[in-house]
Amino acid sequence: MGSTGSVGLSTLDVLRRQQSISVYALGAGSNWRLMLEQCREFRPEIVVMEDLMAAEQLAAALKHEKLDVQVGTGQTALCEIASASEVSIVMAAIVGAAGLPSALAAVMSGKTVLLANKESLVMAGRLFTQAAKDSGATVLPIDSEHNAIFQCLPLRGQQSNDQIAPSGVRKVVLTASGGPFLHASPDQLLSVTPEQACRHPNWSMGQKISVDSASMMNKGLEFIEACYLFDLNPDQVKVLIHPQSIVHSMVEYIDGSVLAQLGSPDMRVPIAHALAWPERIESGASFLDLAASPDLQFMEPDMERFPCLELAIAAARAGGHAPVVLNAANEIAVAGFLERKLGFLQIPQIVEKCLEQISCPEPVSMDMILEVDRQARAMAEDMILGFRPGSWC
Ligand code: NAD
Ligand code: MG
Repeated sequence: MGSTGSVGLSTLDVLRRQQSISVYALGAGSNWRLMLEQCREFRPEIVVMEDLMAAEQLAAALKHEKLDVQVGTGQTALCEIASASEVSIVMAAIVGAAGLPSALAAVMSGKTVLLANKESLVMAGRLFTQAAKDSGATVLPIDSEHNAIFQCLPLRGQQSNDQIAPSGVRKVVLTASGGPFLHASPDQLLSVTPEQACRHPNWSMGQKISVDSASMMNKGLEFIEACYLFDLNPDQVKVLIHPQSIVHSMVEYIDGSVLAQLGSPDMRVPIAHALAWPERIESGASFLDLAASPDLQFMEPDMERFPCLELAIAAARAGGHAPVVLNAANEIAVAGFLERKLGFLQIPQIVEKCLEQISCPEPVSMDMILEVDRQARAMAEDMILGFRPGSWC
């Protein structure tokens, strides 16, 4: 799911290096030309493009090349391939709330789900983890920090959805690079462009997560993701800035031991880990040369510079519908920023206003989650309409 994106491409690159897993289906949004190339190389049985026109163009091109690949379209078709009986492992790497239905379908049908789409857990954490327990699905984190934490848990804790936070864990420490604006002044932040925000110093990623990394909303979403994934309360999760992105996260135990996972900043490492778990396979990533690496630094995050991180931690503490509102308002604000309809510093303003103005009880069903998501998106969109072009700088 999301085969034409950054995580999708890294996943196919890991699969290229080994023969034991074949690709049954691929799903993506609208980039049918790249999907055509993937069909030529990986020969899936079925592909789904969310976009109808893209699906039609792909089907015509496949026919022209006499490639026997079935083409589907839309969310329902994505959910069908995610839960198909021929499938045992699903990589959930669609970006944003759009990734939730197919990731949940995979979990509900008991697959091994490699979860890159953190927004699924932020929106529907409780339902998602409960569905995994009910169906016996195995959820393996792909987000590099959560994958690092998972690797630092004892095998006993890794093997059961119930005990993923085994006794003896005192805290998990999420490391954060701090993104491209770690040292930017408030004045500089006023006028940053989408191009600057997407230029991450260590990782090459899709646009939305790159902007989230620049605002540190990404770390905030990961904070919420960690609480649900490892069944932790917010006091057990700590964020530490580590600009070199070599230590991907740590687990602190009650005896004072701290276990960390290190590696090159390359998503093929967590992807290969999860694809082979509990075995190991080659990923294609370069090996660490610690003697030649820069000094490793760690520091506390500056919440004034990164209000998105503070808002997300507050939403994790508030629980209920707050993470749903945070995620939806952020998605709309980031899309608006990428389209130059608002400034970088207005992203947290929009998220904060939506969090203040939308109140509802704990969303206990998917319908309620989707309703809160819809309300927050509509409110954020209205706010953006009210901005005059250029009024932010
Ligand atoms: P990306 O923008 O590069 O790719 C997104 C993929 O989703 C593309 O294949 C796109 O076609 C597909 N897509 C978008 N909208 C869709 C829709 N409505 N229906 C079906 N498919 C749709 O994003 P990415 O950087 O690969 O990130 C994917 C997910 O993984 C995100 O949730 C992100 O937070 C998470 N993640 C990414 C990285 C990274 O290094 N890129 C690291 C950790 C976690
Ligand atoms: Mg991450």
